[in-house]
Amino acid sequence: MADIAVTLADKRGTLPADDKLGFGKIFTDHMFVMDYETGKGWFDARIVPYGDFDISPAAMVLHYGQAIFEGMKAFRTEDNRIVVYRPVDHLKRFNNSADILSIPQMDVDLLHAGLNKLIEIDKDWVPQSLGTSLYIRPFVISVDPFVGVKVADEYKLLIILSPVGAYYASGFKPVKIKVEEHFVRAVKGGLGEAKTPANYAASLKASEEAQKEGYTQVLWLDALEQKYIEEVGTMNIFFKIDDEIITPELNGSILNGITRRSVIQVAQDWGLKVTERRISIDEVYAVHAEGRLQEVFGSGTAAVISPVGELSWKGKNIVINNNQTGATSQKLFDYITSIQQGRVADKFGWIGEVTKI
Ligand SMILES: *Cc1c(COP(=O)(O)O)cnc(C)c1O
Repeated sequence: MADIAVTLADKRGTLPADDKLGFGKIFTDHMFVMDYETGKGWFDARIVPYGDFDISPAAMVLHYGQAIFEGMKAFRTEDNRIVVYRPVDHLKRFNNSADILSIPQMDVDLLHAGLNKLIEIDKDWVPQSLGTSLYIRPFVISVDPFVGVKVADEYKLLIILSPVGAYYASGFKPVKIKVEEHFVRAVKGGLGEAKTPANYAASLKASEEAQKEGYTQVLWLDALEQKYIEEVGTMNIFFKIDDEIITPELNGSILNGITRRSVIQVAQDWGLKVTERRISIDEVYAVHAEGRLQEVFGSGTAAVISPVGELSWKGKNIVINNNQTGATSQKLFDYITSIQQGRVADKFGWIGEVTKI
């Protein structure tokens, strides 16, 4: 495996108090960087002081958006170990996104080693109190100075780290969601299964309008018929109906969430029936009318579990579980976060250890 050169920062910053962290605003002292050129492959894996870097105004990513990213978390356990949640699964998905965007494949072992080394160097930035974590953002951008559409020949890969506060500082609060009837997020055969900036750009207008109308986020329906449920905001979505857990099946336009996988595996392990299938918004409203819709929740790295308390579709609102967090949502949140923070045994082998301090 290629060596990872390290250049340490002259000055180190300090981790703010846990209640001042927020999300995605504070960055650590170092970052991992690697370059790619056609004919040469990925080269020059290195850890350098965190900071701005130069790219050409003609860099292709600025014009055509050929880029991908990941989002995962590291935690400091009560016994002071630093662990990463499902790092290899995230890095494999990074390569899947790369494939979809015609970006060259990366060496997962090298990235994993680089990530662990980076976290170890910046270990003082990993917060400890309940709910806090170190958010990890790997990304690749195309950097050839070229104005013209083609697959790029030069890329830059970076991993940056950001200590983040507890998502639910004052406990769970079920969110109010608008079922989107006009805009769509992704189409089959498009980029929906990739973590790529384009999908987020495509979601902004709908989110902005929903927020103006008093909703937290939108629930996306399929692009063709606007009938089948895809995702909620930037999370996967689950329904509990007649004690069965149902989530839309992966179809190419839905992001293959790692938290989604965790939820499915844990729920099955608890003996719950879990089904991945198409589910229409009509069905959700119908089972709600019959009193059979018990819970709705989103899943994603940032929030882990996000209970949905209210849905609005074509001007008709439904309230789920009296706008209270459901028992299964709460139990999944408690259990998955306990694995992440090393409070219960890692029976699924999801924890990657960085270092014991
Ligand atoms: C990242 C993401 C998710 C959630 O995936 P996790 O791996 O659970 O964080 C869901 N939907 C979209 C669109 C995403 O980008």
